Amino acid sequence: MKQPKVYLVGAGPGDPSLLTLAAVKCLGRADCIIYDGLVDPAVLQYARPDAEKICVRKRTGPNPATQEQINKLLLEKARSCDCVVRLKGGDPLLFARAAEELQTLTDAGLFFEIIPGITAAQAAAAYCGILLTDRLISSQVLFVTGKESPDKTESAIDFQMLARFEGSLVFYMAMGTLEEIAEKLLSCGKASDTPVAVIANATLPTQRLLKSALAAVANDCRAACLAAPAIIIIGKAADSSPHWGWFAAKPLFGKRIGITRDPRGNEKFAQMLKDFAACPVPFDCLQIHDLSDSSELTAVLGRIENFDWVVFTSARGVEYTFKAVERLGRDARIFGKAKLACVGSATAEALARFGLAADLVPRQFTTAALAEALIRRLDSKDKNILLLRSAIAPDDLPDSLIKAGANVVQIPVYTVLLATPSEEQKKAFGKELQQGLDWLTFTSASAVRFFFEQFPPQLVKSGPAKIASIGPAASAQLKALGLDVDLQAGVHTLVGLIDSLVQATSENHSTKSPERKRRDKENK
Ligand code: SAH
Repeated sequence: MKQPKVYLVGAGPGDPSLLTLAAVKCLGRADCIIYDGLVDPAVLQYARPDAEKICVRKRTGPNPATQEQINKLLLEKARSCDCVVRLKGGDPLLFARAAEELQTLTDAGLFFEIIPGITAAQAAAAYCGILLTDRLISSQVLFVTGKESPDKTESAIDFQMLARFEGSLVFYMAMGTLEEIAEKLLSCGKASDTPVAVIANATLPTQRLLKSALAAVANDCRAACLAAPAIIIIGKAADSSPHWGWFAAKPLFGKRIGITRDPRGNEKFAQMLKDFAACPVPFDCLQIHDLSDSSELTAVLGRIENFDWVVFTSARGVEYTFKAVERLGRDARIFGKAKLACVGSATAEALARFGLAADLVPRQFTTAALAEALIRRLDSKDKNILLLRSAIAPDDLPDSLIKAGANVVQIPVYTVLLATPSEEQKKAFGKELQQGLDWLTFTSASAVRFFFEQFPPQLVKSGPAKIASIGPAASAQLKALGLDVDLQAGVHTLVGLIDSLVQATSENHSTKSPERKRRDKENK
């Protein structure tokens, strides 16, 4: 049986977590992905790294592609690749010019499958708690385009019927024609106080909701500078309870939070922040350099039975140590009788992934607390300590342990270097520092050090961003640079930092810019 060659796939409305499992499976299989401008490139994380990814911007961007060019490209790729995914925003068949693409494929005798996606109307309604159907107020829904084909001589939209329609009218692609649509509906007799909800950037941290009435909505949208992509819902359903807008009620909704780790660390942190509807703004300021293949580390792992304690001060330290262990053809049993100490819960969790339980995690996740807890456990038989950590970790931990009579061996398993962002990335983040960010976060002292090698502290001081630090070491480094630390995490982990940001935000400490105030008010 012949396998389909082309998959027409819906990418959902924006938030990549709204992709279907079938879409993720197709993306993972594709040799070539042809995706629309409205598709969030974050969904491409499910593609193979070697897959060809082609963005066809139909309306925006420097090189808009025509539908004919897209058809041609689709055909060319379908002929040269085993599996092509044509990825379209929302659902691939709704207001998506799919007929032309399917015709092109069938004319060429090519096989295809269609993977539906969550369409913008459904997603926008769900994220704002608007019920497009409700047994009491709306028994029918109509999806309507606000932009008809320019080839048509006459509109196929029956405004007389729409004006009489008792139910939810949902307009796509209508921001440019909203005034005209409202006027036509009004002149056909629709009540001027018919509720309207306009939802822009639905499902994203930049989502905006404007509630109005038919006679006022065009003006209100203009005044609020509400721009496409947006969905317009007209009818009683649009007047939903303000308490049902669960997404905008998330604690960090829309907050722009600068994150300053290494690329992988930023990706992880960004994902965690997105779960709180925040808008992470990454600046890759560090790079981690793997030292797990050093001869020093190999040698020390060969005599690991000489140590009573092995100490890890980061999840990365655990990860790179195990790279070396695996390279030696060994596994977790290499640690034998040695006791294992971790600076905090994230490090202990990293150990647990290799089947090991930490023997010691201090109550406070700092190296000072770790030193204190370890010293309490030291006795004359138990004092050979191996530290496996970053090459640039400060000396306070080994110094205190040595002072307490321990024999300490330190082996770096990775090091932290200054990243080399492009001028463009620096400029973009500099702009964020001057006007965009609500918070600028630091999750290590080295991140502080390297960040301020790229940006002068004055730029942060004069901007709107408040500074949040994960713990005392990062805070001390910030203070040494003359910066105020607005928030230090109560628990010194990423989760703890997010918790503290949530708390500070709910106490309304972070609202600084007028733009933010306006948005907060609007989304109430
Ligand atoms: N096939 C898509 C629609 C494509 S037409 C779907 O099923 O959703 C493009 C229109 O979709 C935009 O003009 C806008 O009206 C709507 N749209 C797409 N993404 C949106 C989003 N994140 N928020 C609000 N509207 C969106």
